[in-house]
Amino acid sequence: MKTIKMEEMTWPEIKAAIEAGFTTVVVGVGSTEQHGPHLPTMTDARIGDELAHRVALGLGHALHARTIAVGVSEHHLAFAGTLSVKPETLHALLRDYVDSLARHGFRRIVFLPSHGGNFATVAKTIAESREDHPGIEVTGYTDLMGFVAALNEGSAEYGVTFEEAGAHAGENETSIMMALEGDLVAADRFAPGYVGPTGQAEVKLILERGMAALTPTGVLGDPCKASAKHGERYVERLAGFLLTRFGAQEPRTPERR
Ligand SMILES: [Zn+2]
Repeated sequence: MKTIKMEEMTWPEIKAAIEAGFTTVVVGVGSTEQHGPHLPTMTDARIGDELAHRVALGLGHALHARTIAVGVSEHHLAFAGTLSVKPETLHALLRDYVDSLARHGFRRIVFLPSHGGNFATVAKTIAESREDHPGIEVTGYTDLMGFVAALNEGSAEYGVTFEEAGAHAGENETSIMMALEGDLVAADRFAPGYVGPTGQAEVKLILERGMAALTPTGVLGDPCKASAKHGERYVERLAGFLLTRFGAQEPRTPERR
């Protein structure tokens, strides 16, 4: 098989793969939203796509379905280019994904959200789908705090603080995008965003008044220490972390696409 990406395969190839035992499918659930003045709006979708691909490779006998590229991003709408769907819209889309994939014969569906605003809706859909499709294992990684902690532990290895690594377009995501889409990262626009504490008060402010109330540039964190080398390590680490949650040991290096 030259690829596990279903969007690059024909239907007979996908059918044959499922019949040959590729009965797990992995789906990234990203977003299209502002990521500061230095990262493209595809950032979360691109990262989700990469993680889903690596996790599918690592699991083995798994295909990688088209990443969901738009998520729940209401709090970013003050910034141009952000596309947001309501939680109920994402919920309906996820349910339709499950119904479609179940119909083709997949036995295990793994959702990997890569955008904070999607985690709750993914968790809800997983719980419901287990009732709707009792013969199929619908699962995913839905612990947002665990995801953020895994990312920040990676940055700590390079002496990058939690505040710099950041929750949005900081050192962490910037490094990953430098590794994946270096040509789309504007290094000449790196500047610290909000690097203060992110507690309940800040989260409340963001949810009620939007990101712009806390950070005029849309950045939480500081991209200045970012590098492609860091980013490759973060993505490898994160994929390995996710893989251990789904029963595999070591991620394999992805094939060239
Ligand atoms: Zn992001």
